[in-house]
Amino acid sequence: MKRVSILGATGSIGQNTIDLIRRAPERFDVVALTGGRNIDRLARDAIELGADVAVTAHDDLLVSLREALKGSAVEAAAGEAALVEAASRPAHWVMSAIVGAAGLPPGLAALEQGATLALANKESLVAAGPLLMRTARVNHARIIPVDSEHSAIFQALVGEDMAAVNRCIITASGGAFRDWPLEDLAGATPEQAATHPNWAMGQRITIDSASMFNKALEVIEAREFFGFRPEQIEVVIHPESMVHALVGFCDGGLMAHVGPPDMRHAIGYALNWPQRFDLPVEALDLVALGQLTFRAPDVARYPALRLAREVMERRGLTGAVFNAAKERALDHFIAHRLPFMGMAEVVEEVIARIEAENGLIDAGITLETVGQADHLARIAADQVVQDKYS
Ligand code: NAD
Ligand code: MG
Repeated sequence: MKRVSILGATGSIGQNTIDLIRRAPERFDVVALTGGRNIDRLARDAIELGADVAVTAHDDLLVSLREALKGSAVEAAAGEAALVEAASRPAHWVMSAIVGAAGLPPGLAALEQGATLALANKESLVAAGPLLMRTARVNHARIIPVDSEHSAIFQALVGEDMAAVNRCIITASGGAFRDWPLEDLAGATPEQAATHPNWAMGQRITIDSASMFNKALEVIEAREFFGFRPEQIEVVIHPESMVHALVGFCDGGLMAHVGPPDMRHAIGYALNWPQRFDLPVEALDLVALGQLTFRAPDVARYPALRLAREVMERRGLTGAVFNAAKERALDHFIAHRLPFMGMAEVVEEVIARIEAENGLIDAGITLETVGQADHLARIAADQVVQDKYS
């Protein structure tokens, strides 16, 4: 039996992971499930799957979680330290599906105990890529990407020599506003941005898809995980979301990964790796599909893509600053305090201010320095919103 834990079990990726585990209960022994405010779902799944422990991120919800788990053998815990403790309980496989930089400490703890980390939490790679990769290496632990594009690249690279690889192409659906006139974006609301044409995902990543901050994170993720040089990573708009990524080789060949937009594909690949098992994913009918289309992203519409290039040039703690500023800008947009196009302006301004104000960007990448950069960037983002938008 494979001992598995799911960080962020109550979210979109977490629930898709549970769906796969539920279909093959004889293969999995569930160690820990973690969640946020959705105590009912967390408790229900922990009891059903026979988890050892259920953890909510919020201390104030410990009593409700205990109440919901009453009469079962599942232990209840709460708070950030409890998340890290749950992630360090011996497991073969840990799904990292918390949203945001909060996923970094438990992800590191899972690697430190030598587990295979299925990484959906791209923010931790953007904020602390070298730290995450180093932690995996020294603990002989593995990271398997779960982001659909990176799972696609990972699969296209099986058996290949990286020396023969010269490019990768990450596709983007273009998000909710891809066909909106540019001038209408100024008035786009969070409610409009939170609908995705192809994928069913959590609210935050859905809005990040509309602004392409999600793709910006993914470009950096591809660099950190696979070691591509920035100029080797291309982004194309592909409205059908069937081709998830392509890898290009020195002989001109391109290997594409094609499948319906269903995250259970990438989650299942990571869960079963290095084997493949049946997955409840629709088989594509190419004739019914008829055509696949590709076009270049419009740089005026998607400033986040330009910012990702700047982050990759600056390196150091710029990724942590970029991610944290983006998270705060998104909070402000969701709260109607910032217009849609203001998010990229805030992030750009935060990077400039932090770079001008202290030498932090060049410090080594440790959990502590990443935490400091993250903290400063959030304060700066609040300040920029206050200065420019209120
Ligand atoms: P979601 O909002 O649906 O779920 C997030 C999970 O994290 C929930 O369990 C929530 O309780 C927990 N959480 C939120 N804040 C927390 C905190 N501060 N501390 C601890 N736990 C916290 O998000 P999602 O769409 O499932 O995305 C999860 C991660 O996977 C993100 O990093 C996202 O970028 C990535 N991802 C998601 C998809 C997708 O299809 N949903 C695809 C690719 C990558
Ligand atoms: Mg993705």
